[in-house]
Amino acid sequence: MTADLEVHMFPCLSDNYGFLVHDPENDLTACIDTPDARAILAELDRNGWTLTHIFNTHHHGDHAGGNLEVKRATGCTIIGNGNDAKRIPGIDVTVTDGDSFDFGGHAVHVLETPGHTIGHIVYHLPDQSVAFVGDTLFAMGCGRLFEGSAEQMWRSLSRLRAWPDDTVIYCAHEYTLANARFALSVDANNKALIERMEEVAAKRRVERPTVPTRIGLERATNPFLRADVPEFVEAMGMTGRDPVDVFAETRRRKDSF
Ligand code: ZN
Ligand code: FE
Repeated sequence: MTADLEVHMFPCLSDNYGFLVHDPENDLTACIDTPDARAILAELDRNGWTLTHIFNTHHHGDHAGGNLEVKRATGCTIIGNGNDAKRIPGIDVTVTDGDSFDFGGHAVHVLETPGHTIGHIVYHLPDQSVAFVGDTLFAMGCGRLFEGSAEQMWRSLSRLRAWPDDTVIYCAHEYTLANARFALSVDANNKALIERMEEVAAKRRVERPTVPTRIGLERATNPFLRADVPEFVEAMGMTGRDPVDVFAETRRRKDSF
């Protein structure tokens, strides 16, 4: 019997989340990205866990900026995208699209999701129904297109959308309320979205996290996953248009919302 993994989430910086993934059986602990080295080391301490790995999603400072300090303090192994290795400080093990590695008896699948950055990767643990998606997918949102094209990002998001409905999605930022406001502006008649807005607003009023989310809920309410859904395309006034164009226009409107 392989023990289930424990995920410990904590706020970092102004709106990031840090994550520790702990395997109690083999005493392994990974952190997903390193938004804030001191916060990560403090959370490890508090849980009595020893860090063994960092899984990096992409090179941005609020994701890999604490790599070297955390590695210096713990001697952990840093895993990241081999195609972006030059930008991942302290990288030890390179992975790429389609790779799978073992973490405490659980398979960790790696998908390349270019769009936010060219070298962005996400980590999916199918037997735990859990995924760490960095800045590719947010609750009712997606990452800004800093390096990739709309076509690349649409393809990336389409792959995440294909995961089972109950897949728990840990995204790296608490952007949910702002994302929900935008989503309602382009998808005003979506009942699931209207309902979700109320839940999200209630949670944020008392400063509770809205992360994690689930892919089934995102499929129903996230405008960036709906570029090929007829009701959404119609709401955008783009009936008959290619999903890539609809996605690109949605992203453009969000950028200036
Ligand atoms: Zn980023
Ligand atoms: Fe970020």
